[in-house]
Amino acid sequence: MGDSVLIAGAGPVGLVMAAELRRYGVPVRVVEKEPKADEQSRALFLWTRTLELLARGGATPALIEAGEKLTASNIYSGKTLIGRLDFIGIDSEYRYAVLLPQARTEAILEAHLAKLGVDVERGVELSGFTSDDHGVTVTLTHPNGKAEALRAAYLIGCDGGGSIVRQSLGITSAAAPHRSAWYIADVELQNCPFARNEFYSFWHEGGFMSVLPMPGGLFRIIASAGRKGGFAPGTPPLSRIQDILDERGPGGITAVNPAWLYAFQVQEQNLASYRKGRVFLAGDAAHVHNPVGAQGLNMGIQDACNLAWKLVYALRGAANAELLLDSYTIERQAVAERVVANLGRAAQAATVRNPTLQFARNLLGNIYFGLAPGRRQAAETITEVSFSYDHSPINGIEDHALPGPQPGQRVAQKPGETPFGAGNAPRFALLADPSPGVNRLREQFPSLLEDELRPPLSPRCVWLVRPDGYVAAMSLREDADLIAEYLRAYTSQL
Ligand SMILES: Cc1cc2nc3c(=O)[nH]c(=O)nc-3n(C[C@H](O)[C@H](O)[C@H](O)COP(=O)(O)OP(=O)(O)OC[C@H]3O[C@@H](n4cnc5c(N)ncnc54)[C@H](O)[C@@H]3O)c2cc1C
Repeated sequence: MGDSVLIAGAGPVGLVMAAELRRYGVPVRVVEKEPKADEQSRALFLWTRTLELLARGGATPALIEAGEKLTASNIYSGKTLIGRLDFIGIDSEYRYAVLLPQARTEAILEAHLAKLGVDVERGVELSGFTSDDHGVTVTLTHPNGKAEALRAAYLIGCDGGGSIVRQSLGITSAAAPHRSAWYIADVELQNCPFARNEFYSFWHEGGFMSVLPMPGGLFRIIASAGRKGGFAPGTPPLSRIQDILDERGPGGITAVNPAWLYAFQVQEQNLASYRKGRVFLAGDAAHVHNPVGAQGLNMGIQDACNLAWKLVYALRGAANAELLLDSYTIERQAVAERVVANLGRAAQAATVRNPTLQFARNLLGNIYFGLAPGRRQAAETITEVSFSYDHSPINGIEDHALPGPQPGQRVAQKPGETPFGAGNAPRFALLADPSPGVNRLREQFPSLLEDELRPPLSPRCVWLVRPDGYVAAMSLREDADLIAEYLRAYTSQL
């Protein structure tokens, strides 16, 4: 068994999970039950935070090269602009989202994984497993029907919304799942007022609608089914999409030449736990969101980046292995919960029916988005850079008297700077000027810390930054020994 990890599912999340573990030297196998890659263009966006995290393993340039940049989001009520969020003000190297159909994203991630020496085993299905304190015994079914028994240290279910791993574990949603109904239409738009590098959301009492640019001159319309009734899963008539466009949009636009028309239901849920012993869930297997915020794929990729480095430390026998692995659920579940709450609030605000409330909503929206801090906060939420792990059990002690980001918060990187967690070992970065205490740290923990110091965010303090770019611990420069106490938890017990 050794220290191998089995990943079930080669969607975007499984592919990133495998690449993250592999570049850190963990033997992985990725099995995918479908013989051929999925060609549906489900998710279209890679948000800023996802680009930052994928840059650590080197996948981001190819994704940017293949996609188009999206630089702003607009919120309308009919013809009235309520707010415009420009991503240019985000504190990141990537002040945009990348527009790239999911099939292309997956192809690039799979090629990236192949360069790391791992080929996806297609047509191979995870058909069952049992786990114990020391590992997982997995049954795989090959295309010729042959069964293979495999022993691995960990199993990660990246097997999507219908996850067999989740069902076998019997983990249920933290809150009652919420079912919602949606239309997607990839169409050409005649008399189109929309820019090709921005996206548009329309708030309307009949339901929510977004219009997003797509490669090839198309636009994607995503719309909630709304209150009118008559919803049926499958292929809706184009006339239904046209009705929605007329009702909720600015008017005068005609949808023609559909490339894809789809009516579907989403069972929105967020599991109570993403872990049971040596089995983990990531991506849609752990949480499913409605398509309004275009967050599902991005959230899943960020799950993988959160879990991978922790698994490496657990495999190495870190003193705090159990806490580290438990922190995966605690951190990511809270973020998924926040996304659900944000989308719920947005949907509520978008669809109020009372004209007085609509007037108040538009006025408040104008005021909020008219102010730079409001615009910035909203842009940082959409692009996911404001996600943080404020209540994580692996956070060092907070000290709000100190400047800069606190434990659990993301550290923004300067353009061109080597990403945190880059390279072939999940090392922590030390942001500090040299001092006797800081030098002692470097001598004590050479394999846990990056070789070089990085510039501090303030000369008074030392920041220890996790391999996924969040503050682990911080102290005053003269108290750098506090950081040593923190790092001891990551040393081997073996
Ligand atoms: C119509 C639609 C539109 C969407 N639009 C957006 C959007 O705009 N933005 C966004 O971020 N998200 C969007 N999403 C969500 C996004 O597509 C998902 O969040 C994303 O695909 C999740 O990735 P995943 O790897 O977790 O799961 P999946 O992509 O579902 O991949 C799971 C993989 O596991 C495989 N598998 C399943 N069971 C087994 C097994 N037993 N053994 C081996 N392999 C198995 C499956 O074949 C599949 O390839 C949309 C989803 C839908 C349905």
